[in-house]
Amino acid sequence: MFKCINRSAQFTTYIQSAGGRFCFNQDFRLVSSSPLRMTDPAVNRVVSDIIRSPEDKRVYRGLEFTNGLKAMLISDPTTDKSSAALDVQIGSLSDPANISGLAHFCEHMLFLGTKKYPKENEYSQFLSEHAGSSNAFTSGEHTNYYFDVSHEHLQGALDRFAQFFLCPLFDESCKDREVNAVDSEHEKNLMNDAWRLFQLEKATGNPNHPFSKFGTGNKLTLETRPSKDGIDIRQELLKFHSTYYSSNLMGLCVLGRESLDELTSMVVKLFGEVENKNVPVPEFPEHPFQEEHLRQFYKVVPIKDIRNLYVTFPIPDLQKYYKSNPGHYLGHLIGHEGPGSLLSELKSKGWVNTLVGGQKEGARGFMFFIINVDLTEEGLLHVEDIIFHMFQYIQKLRTEGPQEWVFEECKDLNKVGLQVQGQGATPWLHFQSGWFITLLPS
Ligand SMILES: [Zn+2]
Repeated sequence: MFKCINRSAQFTTYIQSAGGRFCFNQDFRLVSSSPLRMTDPAVNRVVSDIIRSPEDKRVYRGLEFTNGLKAMLISDPTTDKSSAALDVQIGSLSDPANISGLAHFCEHMLFLGTKKYPKENEYSQFLSEHAGSSNAFTSGEHTNYYFDVSHEHLQGALDRFAQFFLCPLFDESCKDREVNAVDSEHEKNLMNDAWRLFQLEKATGNPNHPFSKFGTGNKLTLETRPSKDGIDIRQELLKFHSTYYSSNLMGLCVLGRESLDELTSMVVKLFGEVENKNVPVPEFPEHPFQEEHLRQFYKVVPIKDIRNLYVTFPIPDLQKYYKSNPGHYLGHLIGHEGPGSLLSELKSKGWVNTLVGGQKEGARGFMFFIINVDLTEEGLLHVEDIIFHMFQYIQKLRTEGPQEWVFEECKDLNKVGLQVQGQGATPWLHFQSGWFITLLPS
């Protein structure tokens, strides 16, 4: 039962490295809500007892708004840059079947003018005048917007930022240019091994599953084909935005020099007004890889001079078990580097140098487990032997069954990891806001 394809860490959220550590560390965990007095009717719940590394001197506060939006505020009186990220739990898996890339196109168009700040480049100009920058990305089930700015200008930047979620214009005049921007992104991806293999993987599952969609989009899917079919792409964009951009699907993360109370009043004023359309979180209960899509072997000629073997297993969605984290347990063992490990055996044969094993997000409803190795020239001649060793090791784990001491070891390692980790760098914010949505119990 294997698929053999390439994949880049760029698209993975839950991969563990061989050392068994998360790539995206959790800087915080929400453990319970405390009845802090919060009189603003826009706020439903305040979470203050957030576990963090003793090395982390920042202070944190979680908020759940009455409109369902969840926010994490981080006060750091020493920061030079302030920053914010907002994640909408909607991505390209929710694109209409006939318009590939609409969620991504929406991400591009959202930046360009709002009712309050109609000037097209108001946001980017404000940020660049104040040592800031911004970016965004669209994945299968998330669209994420983020910026940083010189610490004195958080309020101004946040006001411009919030308008995207309150009153975007989606100005017709920007449409053609942004279609071209999306198209050139796609052209660039065509020469990138990770993107090519990502799309190959999508193409090898169930073609009727949303996972198979072409999420980036290009001129053909966003302009040529819709206009041939009489579809007004701007109308579709407005429809997509008004259907899915709902406060109950949003997670916000803001970091600034201000106190938690000041940050609270800043975000409540701006984001308390975002409309709640009570959109259900999209779920994809069926796995895109069914029996007939397995036992496939794909040989790929790369653009770059690389030799890799990527083995992917379909697994159920384990996210709801995040507290015990069974995927981490498996990744810890399969990715182990010590004596007797899979890696040490493959290395001793001279076939590989590195191995990464772990769970990888699919979307709500399905996940993957991957074992990726680089191949030496000799290893390239022994691909089937390497796969045989992988399955032998998996069989050994199956025969021996779950071991409590391994679980305890993982727990201790993660605990130590959290203690020595210190405070996250500002760029982590956009991931945190995505995590936040799924972690905060409703
Ligand atoms: Zn883009």
